[in-house]
Amino acid sequence: VVSVTGLRKSFGEREVLRGIDLDVAAGEVVCVIGPSGSGKSTLLRCVNLLEQPTSGRIDLLGVEVTDPDVDIDRVRTHVGMVFQQFNLFAHRTVLDNCTIAQRGVLRRSRAEAERVALANLERVGLADRAQAMPAQLSGGQQQRVAIARALSMDPMLMLFDEPTSALDPELVGDVLGVMRDLADAGMTMIVVTHEMAFAREVGDRVVFMDDGVVVESGPADRVIGAPTEERTRAFLQRVL
Ligand code: ATP
Ligand code: MG
Repeated sequence: VVSVTGLRKSFGEREVLRGIDLDVAAGEVVCVIGPSGSGKSTLLRCVNLLEQPTSGRIDLLGVEVTDPDVDIDRVRTHVGMVFQQFNLFAHRTVLDNCTIAQRGVLRRSRAEAERVALANLERVGLADRAQAMPAQLSGGQQQRVAIARALSMDPMLMLFDEPTSALDPELVGDVLGVMRDLADAGMTMIVVTHEMAFAREVGDRVVFMDDGVVVESGPADRVIGAPTEERTRAFLQRVL
C-alpha cells in the first residue's frame, strides 16, 4: 500500500529526513514513535506529498507519487488524514463536515453522502450529534467527527498525526477506541503517536525514528517491550 525508499527531505540547509525506508502492507497498522523534531510529521506529510521530498521514491496505492507527472489529488482522494488539530469547518454542522468532500470530490448525491456520513458517525458513536456545530462538541468528539469525515471518503489508507495529543486526558480513550476498532476492521494505518500502550497493543509494527532516520523497526511488542537499540531504550525510558 505504501512503499518509501531512500526518502530525504531538507528545509533549507537542514536535512530533517535522512534516508527513510518504510513499507506498509494492506491491513497493517504501523505506529511511528520518536522524540519531538525527529521528523515523524514530515514523513507522514511526505507520504501524500503535503511536503515535497528532496529525494527518494514513494509509492502510494500502486502509484509512484514522486513521479513529477503524477495526479496527486486523485491518489489523495483515497488517503484519509487526521491531524492533531481537527480542522473541522466551524460554521458547518457535523453532518455537513462529513458530506462536503464526498459531494465535491466524489460527486455523490446529497442523499448518498448523508447515508455514508451517518453510517460513519454511527461508527464513531456520534450519529445523534449530526446536526450539532463543532463548537458544541468536546475535543474528543470533534476528533471523532474528523475521523468519520475521513472514513466517509472510503479511504484505502488512514494517516494519523498525534490525533490525541491536543485532547484532555479523559477524552483520549474514546478516540483511541475508535482507532482500535478501525484497526480491527482491517484498515491500513500509519499512526504517529505518543501513546505507547496503544502502539504496543494495536500496532502490528512500530517504527522508532530519531534525528531523521529509522533507528529501529519491528513487531510492536518487540520494539517497545525489548528494544535492541540504545537510542530506542533511552527514549522509551523517558516516555514510559
Ligand atoms: P513532534 O513530535 O514535535 O511533532 P516531529 O517528529 O513530528 O516532532 P517534524 O514536525 O517532522 O518533527 O519536524 C522535524 C524537523 O523539521 C524539526 O526540526 C522542524 O523544526 C523542522 N521542520 C518541520 N517543518 C518545517 C518547515 N515547514 N520549515 C522548516 N522546518 C521545518
Ligand atoms: Mg509532529
